[in-house]
Amino acid sequence: MALMTGEQYIESLRKLNTKVYMFGQKIDNWVDHPIIRPSINCLKMTYDLAQDPEHEDLMTATSNLTGAKVNRFSHLHQSTDDLKKKVKMQRLLGQKTASCFQRCVGMDAFNAMFSTTYEMDKTHGTSYHERFKKYLTYIQDKDIVVDGAMTDPKGDRGKAQGAQADPDLFVRIVSKNDEGIVVRGAKAHQTGSINSHEHLIMPTQAVSEDDKQYAVAFAVPSDAEGLFMIYGRQSCDTRKLEKDADVDLGNKRFGGQEALVVFDDVFVPWDRVFMCEEADFSGMLVERFAGYHRQSYGGCKVGVGDVIIGAAALAADYNGAAKASHVKDKLIEMTHLNETLYCCGIACSTEGYPTDAGNYQIDLLLANVCKQNITRFPYEIIRLAEDIAGGLMVTMPSQADFRSDLKVPTKSDMTVGQWANKFFVGVDGVPTENRMRVLRFIENVALGTAAVGYRTESMHGAGSPQAQRIMIARQGNIAAKKELAKAIAGIKD
Ligand code: SF4
Ligand code: FE
Repeated sequence: MALMTGEQYIESLRKLNTKVYMFGQKIDNWVDHPIIRPSINCLKMTYDLAQDPEHEDLMTATSNLTGAKVNRFSHLHQSTDDLKKKVKMQRLLGQKTASCFQRCVGMDAFNAMFSTTYEMDKTHGTSYHERFKKYLTYIQDKDIVVDGAMTDPKGDRGKAQGAQADPDLFVRIVSKNDEGIVVRGAKAHQTGSINSHEHLIMPTQAVSEDDKQYAVAFAVPSDAEGLFMIYGRQSCDTRKLEKDADVDLGNKRFGGQEALVVFDDVFVPWDRVFMCEEADFSGMLVERFAGYHRQSYGGCKVGVGDVIIGAAALAADYNGAAKASHVKDKLIEMTHLNETLYCCGIACSTEGYPTDAGNYQIDLLLANVCKQNITRFPYEIIRLAEDIAGGLMVTMPSQADFRSDLKVPTKSDMTVGQWANKFFVGVDGVPTENRMRVLRFIENVALGTAAVGYRTESMHGAGSPQAQRIMIARQGNIAAKKELAKAIAGIKD
């Protein structure tokens, strides 16, 4: 099948019977819901750009499974060049949406699952790899979105899966028969879960043999029986429900999305099961998915960073501060930090290598260093943007005030809108509304709905900082570095 257009993607969502709850209500028309729609628009962009000849090289690839042209988000990386193009594609989409565009979790899950099932089959004599190839061929052919889901609610962090007071706090197999398995549990803060057609579920952490019912990987359609989602609200999200508030939104068209995805005894047929109690491979799957997603952040957050730097520079122009040397220096610092993140994304891709299954894996140490930097630099970038923007980004009146015709009964006989426009003007020749728009954009990324994607997701998405430090400790090879020091210092044991 040909690649879907953005419009076809939106229409395909309407055909799903996905069960969505928000603010204590069931949302039937979630596709057009003003709080949810911006996140759908982000995913639509992954389809629109794939149709654009200008971006075809980054946005599409040739499938190693079928030889067909596929969206890169469904592709198995065949080279280090593919790994680099992935990062560049993510930067491009960050620039176009200034948001999390959500489709990467599926791509990262495909690549981790492909290589892990291959190695699992070699050890256990299972046939997961062929099954997974068939599943991915179906996804590529239909050009549909898959939510790669890893994070379980986890309950008491001091206890393993099976030791929790409630055994459902990690997704588990509750029964098996000739037809398939039944699973129960939930995946928390799932990026892009509602606007995906399918969910590809992985364990959240390594599982011991005693808890092997938690070593499970499988795929289900988003509207499977027993599956529902509870939407995660974002700071300032109800501004999206206001009339005529597009200036106040800062980014009216695009946004991220996270939800709790609940499995209340969901049946999965065997042809969609890719790990069933092989506890010894759970750690590999987690490590590989996390590695790919830590690489991803060296693209997506950099693209959003590009927009933030542009917005800060515009704010300086509109405020009449562009020539101040400290402002110029802050823009240099923001650029330096942002490009350092990009360097990490490109570096871990360039140092990638083929897995036994044939697809390419990133350099794990460099990908973890990438994500560790992501837990810090975006905070500094947005701090500098706030510094340049000035306090008005959080104190200005609403769009309704700027456009108000209500007369204020004073000597000048002017409207609320005229007063607001008079006193919030910046440099000559720039409409006050343009200044408001750019400041509200910075507010949105710093404190509003987009802060989920740019700040907190930078901290906790793809694993919290400590998860990377553990991997850096494992991969850093201090023992070899000691030998280097001994050789130079002339130390003989
Ligand atoms: Fe993609 Fe970045 Fe969102 Fe992850 S955080 S899904 S890498 S845009
Ligand atoms: Fe993420």
